[in-house]
Parts: sequence; C-alpha cells; structure tokens
Amino acid sequence: MPTSQLEPAKTSAASNARVGAVVGRDLTPVTYYPVPMQRQFFANQAAIGTKPYAEFFHPDLTVPIAWAKALQRGPLSPEQALSPSVADINQVLDPSRRFPDAGYAVLEEGPCAYTQSRIEMAGVTTDMFRWWFLWHPIEKERYSLWFPWAHVDNYVEDPARLADTSLSYEQRLYGNPNHVEEFVGPSSLKLIMHFTEPTELGLDAAVLRRAGITASASATIRVADAPEITFMFMLHLARDTDRGLELFSRYWIGAHPEFKRFPGGADGPALLKKMGMDRHSLETLAYEMAVHDMTEFNHLATILPAVHRAFGH
Ligand code: ZN
Repeated sequence: MPTSQLEPAKTSAASNARVGAVVGRDLTPVTYYPVPMQRQFFANQAAIGTKPYAEFFHPDLTVPIAWAKALQRGPLSPEQALSPSVADINQVLDPSRRFPDAGYAVLEEGPCAYTQSRIEMAGVTTDMFRWWFLWHPIEKERYSLWFPWAHVDNYVEDPARLADTSLSYEQRLYGNPNHVEEFVGPSSLKLIMHFTEPTELGLDAAVLRRAGITASASATIRVADAPEITFMFMLHLARDTDRGLELFSRYWIGAHPEFKRFPGGADGPALLKKMGMDRHSLETLAYEMAVHDMTEFNHLATILPAVHRAFGH
C-alpha cells in the first residue's frame, strides 16, 4: 500500500501543511448556509418523512477546523493548482508530489474554477463508496442524506440498470447519465454527470494500479441547459488504507483548452460568456465548491458505514 500521502507533513509552511481530515478530531459545526439552502433543508426534511433511512437525515454537520481554516487563506498558489491536462491529472496520485489537502484557485487558461481535496474516512471502505454511488441516485431523498441543506434532486436515465445487482459497478453506472440538482453556495446547479472509466478521462492504468486505487466516481459533466458542452470535469479516486478510505478529489469548472479532448469541450468559452461568468465569479465558485466538497464528504464519512450496514445487502 502506498503510504506517502499518509505521512505527516515535513514542512510547517501554512500554504503546504497537512490540514488533517481525519473525521472525529477537532471538528467545528458548519454554521453558515445561504438562504436558498435553508429553504431546501426544510423541503428535504418534509420529503424524507417516513423513508426507512430517515434516521440518517441530520441537520447538524461538522467539518475539521483545520480544513475550514485552510479554505479561508485565499486561493492556492499557481504551482499547487493542477490543470485538467492528461499530464497534470496523473500527478494527483504521484507520491513525490505534495498537495495541500484542501484548496481552490482559478486557472487563467479558460478561465477555469479549480478545487482539490483529500480526505481519510475512518471506518469506510472502497466497497461502501462504490455501493453509495449505485444506491443514492435511486431516490432524491437518499441523495439529500449526503448534504441535507444543499442537495435537491438526483436520478439516472436508466434506474433499472443502476439497481441491477447482477451487473458490475461499471456496467450499472457508466453510460447511465446522472442528472443532479444541488446548491453550490447560493447558486443552484443543474448538471448531467457522465461517469466513466478513469482511463478514458486520461488517467494512466499503471498510475492507478501503483497508487492502489480500487474505486472511482469520475466524470465529465454538462450543465442541463447546454447538454452538448463539457463544462466540468471531476475526479473522485479512492483506495483502502489501514486508516480507512482515502479519497482524492479534483474539480475543474468552466472552460479550459484541455477540455477539447471531451465532447463539446471546445465550446466552453462561449458558454461561459453566455452564462455571464468571468474569472472573478469562477474564483468565488471554486471556493464555494471547496466548501461544498468539504461539507458533504466529511458528512458522508459519518453516515456511510451505518447506512451501508442497514441497506447494503
Ligand atoms: Zn453535493
């Protein structure tokens, strides 16, 4: 098992420090939710009603203090932010590179919002992680468990295939577009996620194997209003460690020359212009995406073992 990512930081520089994502240690409540998210929470609470998993719907979410503080220090320096190029995305798992565990930035090329995170989820396995991505899109109320304040709707185009336990994870999720509606900060995003093999997105099979990655929920993403244009690229790469599941996440949102290798990716700049987004609004979106990712994955870590025990059979 590769251990380099689990070792303590060798530098005390704040910009490069490990921010400690081990759930259960030095936590702070999440106290700020934009007004539209407050309304969504009450709608989700009413919808979950008597669902058999209602006991896992929690209003009180917590995140590591160090992680929250890391995101208050402004954007990452340019050398810490990766582009969505094939060469760069393979560095995510390079044991000789050390990235801050949480951060955001705006890439000048495109421009493009960028968010990164690494989390260790105690008591969670890659088997549970894969199960979650097959189980939650069946009902939007299941999706709301993950982030009760921000998650609105979620369905796949072929739910029967997603639920078919005779098929593999890949056969159930890939080529089965996932329609998602959620708040990222105060903005409502309606997205279509196309999950696929990480090697089709540019990751090297040998790099994945060497890193011990055994679960992926990685996708190119379109906005519902422009379903022909790749507008976002997301990596969730996970491995099992002796401290639980370790998840590496990256998000690129907007336009980038490297998006040309994805369907409609060359049309990103025109779409950005149409949406009225510039580098300043993308920087804000990158920060809000980082807060959203921090909140939902720290929360998922606290509920997934018990939800899987109750429903994962
Ligand atoms: Zn979310």
